[in-house]
Amino acid sequence: MFDRIAYYKSRCAELDLSEVPQSYVGGEFVSGTGAMIALEDPYSRTVLAEYPDCGAETANRACEAAAVAQKVWMTDFTAAGRGIVMQKIAALVDERQETLAQVEAVVSGKPLRDCRVEVAKVSEMFRYYAGYTDKLHGQVIPVPSGHLNYTIREPLGVIFQITPWNAPMFTAGWQIAPAMACGNGVVLKPSELTPVTSIALATICEDAGTPAGLINVLAGLGPTAGEAAIAHDATRKVVFVGSPATGRVVATSAGKALKPVVLELGGKSANIVFEDADLKAACKGAQAAIFATAGQSCVAGSRLLVQASIKDKFVKMVADGMEQLKVGDPLDEATEIGPISNRRQFDHVTAMVDQAAKNGAKVLSGDRTKGDALIVPPTILTDLPPEADAAQTEIFGPVVAALSFVDEADAVRIANSTDFGLAGAVWTNNVSLAHRMAGNVRAGTFWVNGYKAIHVSTPFGGSRSSGFGRSSGTDVLMEYTEPKSVWVETAEVPRVAFGYAPSE
Ligand code: NAD
Repeated sequence: MFDRIAYYKSRCAELDLSEVPQSYVGGEFVSGTGAMIALEDPYSRTVLAEYPDCGAETANRACEAAAVAQKVWMTDFTAAGRGIVMQKIAALVDERQETLAQVEAVVSGKPLRDCRVEVAKVSEMFRYYAGYTDKLHGQVIPVPSGHLNYTIREPLGVIFQITPWNAPMFTAGWQIAPAMACGNGVVLKPSELTPVTSIALATICEDAGTPAGLINVLAGLGPTAGEAAIAHDATRKVVFVGSPATGRVVATSAGKALKPVVLELGGKSANIVFEDADLKAACKGAQAAIFATAGQSCVAGSRLLVQASIKDKFVKMVADGMEQLKVGDPLDEATEIGPISNRRQFDHVTAMVDQAAKNGAKVLSGDRTKGDALIVPPTILTDLPPEADAAQTEIFGPVVAALSFVDEADAVRIANSTDFGLAGAVWTNNVSLAHRMAGNVRAGTFWVNGYKAIHVSTPFGGSRSSGFGRSSGTDVLMEYTEPKSVWVETAEVPRVAFGYAPSE
């Protein structure tokens, strides 16, 4: 039988990591001493490793190390020099792509083919923001007094980033690359269930030349390590990616310490299909929107809104197609859909489906044939109203609620009837309708005749229960810097005598 522990250990060794996850702080590996955490491969249900929570003390050390290294990053490197280091990080990620993808796949249960794409996107992120290190300049503002007024964009200092388990290395790169390009130090706490590739990324940064301590990773739990890092005086901003429930806790702790937060939370995105759409393309899009990565994607198209005139026909198309999807071992090259990443999430997904069935929804899905693996087959819920719990709550699994709408106004009403505002899509051949939907559906990202296109160069984020603030694009450069306004007296006789600045 294929030895998954040996597979995991050998990939860790290739990355020069201990198979027992350790925090990476100030350029050194640090073992935890707290409660034990298990890394379980969700397909074979093998415990790959167990490790102790790093706790508050290590989190405090990480914040201090980041504060020291951040100053070195801003003084010993030129702006262009920081970009050169980031280009090297991208090259090293590319060199180690296969090993990183393999270890990600076995720990998180995400299909290997998807992990390869995500690792490739991480190097793309570092290359993209490498180009910004020497372009973060301010403005000269023509103030009415005649002073020379200019702005400088300054880094904040230490950023504390918290990430979930569904796309571990992708999300780490998504946050670390712009933060360091803007001149900040970083403490990152990945999910305790999937810390390995984030730790590897921190070591790669240092191999590429970042000062020791610029990027620190905590192998530990939210209530201990996470809360300590939020409270630490050196931390100047908290960026959280995860569930709305934890987001509230994190924002409350940050608020008490008067620290700004960015929240990247969940969604219940509407994928809207009008009767005039190219139904074949829309069907493929609908499947990719919810079944890819077993639906464990914040932007998953988890509500399929189909115009009533084609609803039955279209739902049948999606159901027929889902039978063809290859569900199974994430390490198998052919696998398109892997298991749910962890037991807690599996229990949530299955409970949501059972509850929907009890409440009268019809459940269309394949059989669970994978033994103990945490597999949920692609599932469609029909015959449920838009206000049903399964059509309002994030399930975060390969489960889509199929709803119908009568006309454009009805589609917009249903699309906007949840408390989320993360993503959405429309399928239609009517270009005017497409633009109206893009304007009227509440979403930070919206696709027309497509789903899930995402790139580091364009802003990403949501509103309401999907969070606030933006990651990626040039907008994130504003999140990771703050402007300083400098006034220079240019008059021969100073215009400010007693602290009053005249306006002319
Ligand atoms: P989660 O909220 O349970 O955990 C996220 C992170 O928060 C983990 O690292 C966890 O250890 C940490 N944490 C928990 N309590 C904490 C505390 N008190 N202080 C500091 N940190 C704490 O989320 P999850 O189950 O890991 O991930 C799934 C969720 O993430 C889904 O809701 C999904 O939609 C969302 N998500 C959002 C985006 C986005 O960009 N909008 C991307 C990916 C995932």
